Amino acid sequence: METYSNQIKIVVADITTLKVDAIVNAANRSLLGGGGVDGAIHRAAGPELVRECATLGGCETGQCKMTDAYRLPCKKVIHAVGPVWHGGSHQERQLLASCYDNALKLAEDNQLESIAFSCISTGVYGFPKAEAARIALQTIFAHLRDGYQGQVIICCFSEEDTEYYKDCLSNC
Ligand code: ADP
Repeated sequence: METYSNQIKIVVADITTLKVDAIVNAANRSLLGGGGVDGAIHRAAGPELVRECATLGGCETGQCKMTDAYRLPCKKVIHAVGPVWHGGSHQERQLLASCYDNALKLAEDNQLESIAFSCISTGVYGFPKAEAARIALQTIFAHLRDGYQGQVIICCFSEEDTEYYKDCLSNC
């Protein structure tokens, strides 16, 4: 994993302030906004965002859809629908990996040079944070190995949350 560490940055920030090519929202299946990071992104982007999202017909769990970013400083928003944690026997791990995988595929297909992830599913959706960090990093590293050249930012909302990723980077 060390080989690619110059391409991965762990930051503590409000994701709505990041000037990157795309931020990844932890959305819900309606794509019409919600609480947490989703609410913050919709508030900062302005009402045009929900208008575009309303044309998309929702999104399945584990999938992603991309929109413009409107009043946000980033260029695009990738809306990823993470799984709700129901104990781990409902394909939660695969579905979370699929969110990261699909978001990075969108980044590759659209030549995005930087992508910032929120910690999908680890808020209200209750995914265990250490395991979510491991899944996120494993999926990101798989894309870097396959040749993604961009910068990947993991945007934590608290200093405490960064520890899960740092631990994983030193132990995984
Ligand atoms: P989910 O429903 O997928 O669990 P949440 O929005 O509840 O999504 O939480 C996902 C993560 O986003 C949590 O780690 C939460 O602390 C974080 N978060 C909340 N607001 C912001 C924000 N403005 N910027 C970055 N991260 C945020």
